[in-house]
Order: sequence, then C-alpha cells, then structure tokens
Amino acid sequence: MYEKYRKKSPWILHYNAGSCNGCDIEILAALAPKYDLERFGVINTGNPKQSDIFLITGPVTLRSRERIVELYTQIPEPKVVVAVGSCSCTGGVFRDMYNVEDGVDRYIPVDVYIPGCAVSPELIIDGVVKGLDILEQKTKEMEKPFKLFQEATTKDGITSRRETPLRVGEDNEKN
Ligand code: SF4
Repeated sequence: MYEKYRKKSPWILHYNAGSCNGCDIEILAALAPKYDLERFGVINTGNPKQSDIFLITGPVTLRSRERIVELYTQIPEPKVVVAVGSCSCTGGVFRDMYNVEDGVDRYIPVDVYIPGCAVSPELIIDGVVKGLDILEQKTKEMEKPFKLFQEATTKDGITSRRETPLRVGEDNEKN
C-alpha cells in the first residue's frame, strides 16, 4: 500500500549543481499554477530523507560534486535521479571549463536524462512521469529477495520459513 501511494504522491528534491538558472526556472514553472505539477501530488521538498526523485540541473562543478554525492546517499532507496537539461546530462555549454567536471552521471547513477537548453516544463513533467515508472520497477526489485523465502510456518509454537524449524542447540548444517 505504501508503494501505491508513493507513486501517487512522489516527493522531489531539486538541486542546482551549477546551472545558469534557466532549467531551474523551468522546474519552478512546472510546479507553478499554469502546469501545476503539484496537482498530481508531486511536492518539492527540501529534505533528501523524505524524497523519492532527485532532480538535478546544471553541470557538476568542483564545488558541487561532494554535495551531489552527499544528497544522493541521504535519499532512501528506492530512488530515481533525473538529469534536467543538457548541462546535467553532459556538461553542456559549460563542458571543459576550468571549474566544471562533467555531467551528473560521472558521480551518481542517472535514471532519466532530459536534454535541452533550457528544457520545457512539459519535458520535465514527462521526465518525472518516466521516473515514476522506474521508481515502481525499483520498488518491485527490492521486494524480490523476500519472495525467495518460503511462506512462514508455525510448528510447536515456533515460527520459521524453513520446512523443519530449528531448535536451540540444533546443528545448522543438518538443515
Ligand atoms: S541546459 Fe541551458 S538553460 Fe539549462 S542550465 Fe544548462 S545552459 Fe542553463
């Protein structure tokens, strides 16, 4: 049920890694009343620990690279990274500048690339919707290991996922 409602109300974290602000304004336009991304339950939160989708604009600069990795590691799994604009995809017009490293995927894995300079709000909305599908797939992947176990059984008051429940002092190798 939790997964169902996460897809219906994903929270995003927006980070400007070094952009010219062009793509950031388009993200704000997508959230503003004209396009009103919030009507789909999408909320721009400033807290990585409550976010599902990481929206990054701009190329990775020397000053922002550590922040990007920090924020990425603070977002709980499953999470989706969306590179917004040509700069975050490849470095764009800032590529090969003295203070610019590269696109975002040099440091963290990117799930959705939205090229363009600047990207339109429609494309950003499409990218977020694509990210939601990936988020759903990742959630299912995370659930898989639990399905490898047998259904829990109860025998003599002992609940176990093995056919024969282990008892205290019993040799594990026998089972
Ligand atoms: S893609 Fe264009 S608008 Fe977006 S941050 Fe880069 S230069 Fe600015």
